[in-house]
Amino acid sequence: MYAPAGVKTAASHPIPDVMKAWVLGDPGQLTLGDKPVPVPKRAEVLVRIDAVAICATDLEIIYHGPPASIQGGLPFNKGFTPGHEYMGTVVALGPGVDEYQIGQRVTVEIHAGCGQCKRCRAGMYTSCHNYGLNYGDVDKGHRANGFTTDGGFCEYQVNNINTLVAIPDEMSDEEATLVVTAGTAMYGLTELGGLVAGESVVVTGPGPIGLLGVAVAKALGAHPVILTGTRDNRLAIGLGLGADYAVNVRREDAVEAVRRLNAGKGVDYVVECSGAPSAVNEAIRMVNRGGKVCLAAFPHEETPVDVAHIVRNNIYLYGIRGEGKSATHRAEAFMSQKRFDATKIHTHTFALEDLPTAIRYAKDRVEDAIKVVVKARGVPAAQKVAAE
Ligand SMILES: [Zn+2]
Ligand SMILES: [Zn+2]
Repeated sequence: MYAPAGVKTAASHPIPDVMKAWVLGDPGQLTLGDKPVPVPKRAEVLVRIDAVAICATDLEIIYHGPPASIQGGLPFNKGFTPGHEYMGTVVALGPGVDEYQIGQRVTVEIHAGCGQCKRCRAGMYTSCHNYGLNYGDVDKGHRANGFTTDGGFCEYQVNNINTLVAIPDEMSDEEATLVVTAGTAMYGLTELGGLVAGESVVVTGPGPIGLLGVAVAKALGAHPVILTGTRDNRLAIGLGLGADYAVNVRREDAVEAVRRLNAGKGVDYVVECSGAPSAVNEAIRMVNRGGKVCLAAFPHEETPVDVAHIVRNNIYLYGIRGEGKSATHRAEAFMSQKRFDATKIHTHTFALEDLPTAIRYAKDRVEDAIKVVVKARGVPAAQKVAAE
C-alpha cells in the first residue's frame, strides 16, 4: 500500500503502489507499462489523472523530441512519460501542503519554475533559467511535466502546488483539460499589455490556442476580433467562440482583408498562432504603426523577416513560451463564469489504453479532430465516444 513517509493520504482515496503509464521508446513508439506511483516532495501533491488532452507539442515531442529535454537531451528510450494537458483529483499531499485538500478537483499548468532564478521571481516561470535542472546532483525543484519530467499519459503524477488550478464541480473533466490552452492564449494577451478592451485584435491560425485566443480576446472586450485561417470548419468554430469576422486566406489576401474589416486601418494586436513561414511578415503588415505582435507558434525552418518594416513602424514583437504569470487562473475564471464555451474545440474522447489511436486522430485530424482527450477511467477501451 502507498504510504511514503511525510506524505498525507486518506482512506477515501486509496492509492496503489504501481500504476499504468505510457513510456516513449524510439521516436513515435509508445508502450503501456507499469511504473511506481511517484511521491510528492515539499510543496507538491499527487494528482490522480482523470483526463488528458493531446497537444500538437506532444506530437512534436513523441515524433521528434524537442521541446522536451530529459536529463539534458532527447527524450527517447529514457523511460519518459509524455503528456502535459491534464486534470484530475488531489489524492496525496507532500510535506508542508495545506493549500489543497485530498479529493479536490484540479487542472494543471505545465511549468513549475525553480522559484529561485530572476525570471521565476518575476512570474516568468515558463522561462525559468534553471529549466530542466531536476535530476542528479543538481536538483533545482524545476518541473515541466511532459517536457522535463514525467507527464500525464499515466494514472498519477506529482505537481507543484503552484501549477494547480482549482476547478468547480460543474466543469467537466474534458473542459478542465482545456484551461491550460486558454491560459496560453491569456498569457500572450497579457504580454501584449493586457488592456485589450475596445482594441482591435487579429488571431492568425485556428488551432486550439488560436481558437481559444479568439475566445479570451473577446472575453477581455477586444473589438473587432478577426480570425484568419485555411479551414472553413475551424473558422466557423472561431465565429462560435466570439470572432467578429473570419477570413479564409485561401480565398482572400489576409492583410488586405484585415484592413478592410478594420475600417481601412491596421489592427492594434496580432496573436500569431499559425507558425506559417509567411506569418511574421503578414502579421507586421496587419498591425498599425506602434502595434504589437505576439508570436505563439513557430515555423520549423528559419524564415526571412522584414526588419526594416518593423523598425520604421515601431512594431513590437513578443515571443511567448507557455502559460506564465498565472494566466491559467485568469483563463479558468472566464471558463467557470461561462464567458465562452471551450468545449467547442473538444472533438473526441478515448480510453487511456487507446492512446495510440487518440494520437493518430490528433495527428491526422481524423474526422476533423481538434482536441482529443484520453481518460484513465469511465471510457471503455477501443471504443470511441463522440464529444457531447
Ligand atoms: Zn500543450
Ligand atoms: Zn527559475
